[in-house]
Amino acid sequence: MYICYMLFKEITGQYELKRQLIQAIKDKRISHAQLFVGSEGSGNLALAIACAQYICCQNKQDDDSCGHCKSCIKFQKLVHPDLHFAFPVNTTNKVKKDATSDSFISEWRKLLTGFPYFSERTWYEYLGIENKQGNIGKLDAEAIQQKMIFKPFEAECKFMIIWLPERMNATAANKLLKLIEEPPANTLFFLVSKNIDQIIKTILSRTQLIRVPPVDEQSMKKMLAGKYDLSPNETQVLTRLSAGDVLKAIKIYERHEAEQDFLDSFKLMMRFAYEQRFVELLDLAEEMVKLGREQQKSFLYFCQQMIRENFIMNLQMQNIVYSTDKEKDFSQKFSKFITSKNVESIYSALNLAASHIEHNGNQKIILSDLTIKFTQLIRKA
Ligand SMILES: [Zn+2]
Repeated sequence: MYICYMLFKEITGQYELKRQLIQAIKDKRISHAQLFVGSEGSGNLALAIACAQYICCQNKQDDDSCGHCKSCIKFQKLVHPDLHFAFPVNTTNKVKKDATSDSFISEWRKLLTGFPYFSERTWYEYLGIENKQGNIGKLDAEAIQQKMIFKPFEAECKFMIIWLPERMNATAANKLLKLIEEPPANTLFFLVSKNIDQIIKTILSRTQLIRVPPVDEQSMKKMLAGKYDLSPNETQVLTRLSAGDVLKAIKIYERHEAEQDFLDSFKLMMRFAYEQRFVELLDLAEEMVKLGREQQKSFLYFCQQMIRENFIMNLQMQNIVYSTDKEKDFSQKFSKFITSKNVESIYSALNLAASHIEHNGNQKIILSDLTIKFTQLIRKA
């Protein structure tokens, strides 16, 4: 089934804020320039769009858009003619010059309708602008001016949603000041920011601030339980570590999923090291050589993370790290082998190996040395 994330009810948590926004819309108290500020995983972008959809909905429900009227259907695909977007962009292999938001509108719609929580970094990766920073420049400001002169086509209002106004440069900001301060009738600017301190002051002072708080724990748990197959304990810890940020929760979960193979190798390596089974350790090192340098480095960082987490567990502070149940089972037995007597030496051995691999050292020698070192270090607990 197709989910329209831009309905209020599809946005994780934020009940109090949704209630306030809906009331403000009903009372026609929405300012012509609203600034939604919250972390990237707070749902700030989805909330701004949900507000626009609700204002346009032809069959408003008490607490949400209907989701079925002509306007809602167009919002679902983000193709409503009165809904406009501006967001940071840069040149890519495909768009070699004069990149504007319009150059990437189909990518924007695709990413946003897939899931309206994504980071600035994810957006740049999706566009393929690589390591460059995106910005909202003069050309975008001119496009915004042009789009906003016309009266709304279909709805009562027209909307310009500016994602990350902190990436707007001074030229663009100057061009837009007057428009944002005194927009034509029935024109609303919704600015969606993650860092209010970086917004040009003259723009900032012309907006009305809405703080989007972290997602409450209960809603976060419900979201995670609906999305992943987690035990109650995993859900609990993940929820707390996410600190109310949906993206952070997803990131932690995905990293752990991707690392389950690493966990198996790590367990074997530690068991063989403890039992001083040198032949098996060398076989294991041999296996790892086949992984290639990038994977080897990732594996070594994973080992560091495991060592750190097990050390923390040993200090009885288990609640500050997230681990899957599988990791936890293992750690219950393993953590007593990582103590203040060996944690630093193990950590630096891993660091050194990663650094040698990075500098094109002989992988077989580096990894064999490392596993042999472990046979000593693990017994120093
Ligand atoms: Zn509707």
